[in-house]
This record gives sequence, structure tokens and C-alpha cells, in this order.
Amino acid sequence: MSIESNGKLTHKKMKFVPEIKFTKLFINGQFVDSISGKTFETIDPRTGDVITEVAQGIKEDVDLAVEAARDAFDNGPWPRLPGTQRRSILMKLADLIDENAEELAALDAIDGGKLFHDGKNIDIPSAAETFRYYAGAADKIHGDTLKMSREFQAYTLREPIGVVGHITPWNFPSMMFAMKVGPALAAGCTMIVKPAEQTPLSALYYAHLTKLAGIPDGVVNVVTGYGPIAGAAISSHMDIDKVSFTGSTEVGRLIMKDAAVSNLKQVSLELGGKSPIIIFDDADFDKAVDLALIGSLYNKGEICVAGSRVFVQEGIYDKFVKKLEEKVRSWVVGDPFDADSQQGPQVEKKQFEKILSYIEHGKREGATLLAGGKRFGEKGYYIEPTIFTDVKDDMIIAKEEIFGPVMSVLKFKTMDEVIRRANATKYGLAAGVITENLNIANTVSRSIRAGAIWINCYFAFDRDSPYGGYKMSGFGRDMGMDGLDKYLHVKSVATPIYNTPWL
Ligand code: NAD
Repeated sequence: MSIESNGKLTHKKMKFVPEIKFTKLFINGQFVDSISGKTFETIDPRTGDVITEVAQGIKEDVDLAVEAARDAFDNGPWPRLPGTQRRSILMKLADLIDENAEELAALDAIDGGKLFHDGKNIDIPSAAETFRYYAGAADKIHGDTLKMSREFQAYTLREPIGVVGHITPWNFPSMMFAMKVGPALAAGCTMIVKPAEQTPLSALYYAHLTKLAGIPDGVVNVVTGYGPIAGAAISSHMDIDKVSFTGSTEVGRLIMKDAAVSNLKQVSLELGGKSPIIIFDDADFDKAVDLALIGSLYNKGEICVAGSRVFVQEGIYDKFVKKLEEKVRSWVVGDPFDADSQQGPQVEKKQFEKILSYIEHGKREGATLLAGGKRFGEKGYYIEPTIFTDVKDDMIIAKEEIFGPVMSVLKFKTMDEVIRRANATKYGLAAGVITENLNIANTVSRSIRAGAIWINCYFAFDRDSPYGGYKMSGFGRDMGMDGLDKYLHVKSVATPIYNTPWL
């Protein structure tokens, strides 16, 4: 399916139709029905049709998965294996992911509307590389030798934190699985993964690959189901040691509350954002226009670090807006399996309607609609790439996370002014600074309260580059060695060196 210049969706032959092999819960190394026997439908956002029914995990299923993970942690080999062995198994898992890249990319395409070619060439290879990165760390987890003030031999050990619950969103199902499960496995933890109900299929496929790679039963469990039921059963479980969550700020708050009133489990939260891209008069003009477009439209805008507030300095503002209008015309919305598509359908009807309602707010609040502004085609959850100009800071579209292909363009005069305005948000995930001036780049980078700053680039993600939030975008980091640390406890051990009284 692709969008013709007349705005109609046309269907082209799909290149790869994945077979749905796994729809049951994965507990203690087996695919099993849910205890209740209930299932839920997972929907293809290209059409709104049901793809298949998936087992619906409830509290009792989570209990079983936690029991398996607890036993695997307390009595099983995984946390006790030499790091070199965990490394070899994770390397094998990475190879299996590469071998199954087409299958996995196709599952994320039909389940989440993600571009198949991006999945096959970017997301899935990155997921495999993420496992390799943490495989490389598995035999390098060690503590420090301490210099005590008296005659002690003292050192620290870094030990796996225990049983982890990973609760993930739908926008990057494969990368989410890898960036959560990879470091937790390298650390020696055991775990329960609860993928988003909109995109459960690839997580179950990854579960199958963990078994093929030789990860012992009970170490990785996947419980599919709804957030307030299966997710809440994880965040409030008394026998889970840590919950690692990525998702909305509202649900992050609930998770912290559940963790606090249950067993005070550790929590890390990767939440929402409303990131600025700041373009100065001296910027490389064409590059800046491209970065603004990619920053707000990539992955249909369903990305926590989307640069959805584009601040443009007044000297180039008019020229910039003109160029944006010209370039967005060639942006291709279409079936995720078409190689020329740049934007697939939004993940589900609810998100699709939410985005359209934000667009209506933008129109009502008086922003200028430069491009897009409505659904694309008649079927599925496609939305036109939408650009608003003359946006004011207090408009809803400039304040709230839209999580769709909607850019707000705002004009600014001075650096101090734009720093203040860019920081005037409850979020703090990322920011882009586009300028040729080193002093401006350095000053803005250090002044913006956000976890990632990209200078003359955007979405510069990498395995070794930790990311996460300031303010209400959460706390804790994924990726990099910081992403491993959060699955480790530090224990200090001390003993007197000489047989002398030490108190
Ligand atoms: P969401 O918060 O609705 O859902 C995320 C996960 O939480 C899902 O698995 C869901 O089932 C589960 N959940 C829902 N209610 C729950 C509850 N009461 N208890 C426990 N679990 C519950 O978010 P979403 O709509 O799936 O994802 C979009 C949001 O995620 C956006 O706000 C986006 O910015 C954020 N996000 C953040 C990052 C990041 O790294 N900071 C990355 C991707 C997405």
C-alpha cells in the first residue's frame, strides 16, 4: 500500500508475511495458556483487522512467572555462571536475532505499523548489537579495592539485583526488549517481561530465541496482557526486586506508587518528552530542515525523544518555513512493507484519535497549519505529516506530548530567550542544537535540562550512549554502562589485615 500524489492509499504486494508462531505466555521455559484461558486481540494498524489472539496474563500468571524467576535466581545457574559463559550465551542470542531479522521486523511491522525496512536494517540489527554490547560486559563486572582509613582489606562486589520486572511500551518493541533484557541478563538477573498489549508478538518470538540460545528455564519469562492487570501485578509484586519501566509519565507515577506500597522495590522510569530542536541563524540550512523533519516525523512521531518543538531563529524563520513546506511534500506515507515508505500507520485507533484531536487543538488555538492536518487514506491509522507554524509556548500542541507526526515551529530572537523557553517544560529527555558556533553549541548543551543533547545531529543513539530523563521524563538510564549498573547491587566487604583489635 502506498500513498499516491492524489492522497489515495494503493495496495502493493506485501514482500514478507510473517507466520505467527507464538501467542502464549512464556513461563519457566514453556509456552503456556494463561490460567484464566483468556486472550486479547492484537490489531494490524494498517487495516484495523485482528492479527491474532494472544494469551492474556493476569495476576496469577505473573505470580507463576515470578516464582520461576525467583527459583532461577535463588537456586539456578544463571547468576552463578562465570561471566564468560553468560557472555557466550548472549552472543549466541545476538546471532539468532540476526538470523531471524526478517521475521522479527515483519512482526513489528504488522503489530506496530513500523517500517519493515527500518526494522530489518536498523532496529533488529541494533537489538542484536545491544545483546553483543552487554555480552562483552558480562565478564567485566567487578568492584573496587578500597583504601580504608585503618588496616583493613576491603573491596566491593557488584551483584545482580535479583528478579526484575520489565514493563515496556509499543513504539520500539525490539529495541525495548534488547535494552532492558540485555543488561539485566549480563548482570545475572532473572526477569519477567510485560510487553505493551499493542505489540506483544515480537517479545514472544524473542522469548523463543532465548531458549534456543541456551538461557536456562525461568531466567526470562514473558507475560503478555494489559497494563492495569499484568503490569500492575508486576509493579506491586512482593517478590520482584526491581521494576524497569518505559512508558508514559502517568503510568510511571502509578508504578512508583505500587512499588512504594508493596516491597519498596527499586524503580527506574523512562517517561515522556517534549524535546526542543533549536536552530540558529548560522546553521547549515538544508541539514537543519532535514533534522527538523526527521526529528519530529521519524517512527511516525512515536518516539519519546521526538523533537516536536522546533525553535527557529528569526533571521532564517521565513525561509525555513518555506523550505519545510516544500520538503514535507515529498515525505512518503505508506504501507510499512513498501521500501519507499517513510511513515507507516500509528500504532492503534486510540493513539490515532488522540493525535487527530491534538491537531484540532492546534487549529483552534490559532497556529498556522503549514502541512497535513488530517488522516491519510480511508483505511487504517495513517495520519498526514503535520506542521504547525507560528506556534506559541502556551498552546497545548507546544506543551503536551503528542506522540504522533506533528511538528510545532516556534520563532525566537536570542540564545538566552530560547534556553529559557526550551527549558519551560515539565519534561527533560533530549534536545537538538543546530549551529556552526561552538560557543553557542556549548552554552546551550550545558543549559538545557535534558538527558541527551545532540549537536548538529538528532537521534544519535548508540549502545555506549546512556539516555534517560531529567524532571518528569523519569530517572535511571538505559544503554551504556549506566544501563548495566541499574541491575547491580554494590556490596562492600571488609576484614582486618592483621590479627589486631580493630574497634
Ligand atoms: P503506557 O504508559 O500507557 O504503557 C507502557 C507500558 O505500561 C505498557 O506495557 C502498559 O501495558 C503498561 N501499563 C499501563 N498501565 C499500567 C499500570 N497501571 N501498571 C503497570 N503497567 C502499566 O505508555 P504507551 O502509551 O505504551 O507508550 C507511550 C509513552 O511511552 C509515551 O509517553 C512515551 O514518551 C513513553 N516512552 C518513553 C521512552 C523513554 O525512553 N523515555 C521510550 C518510549 C516511550
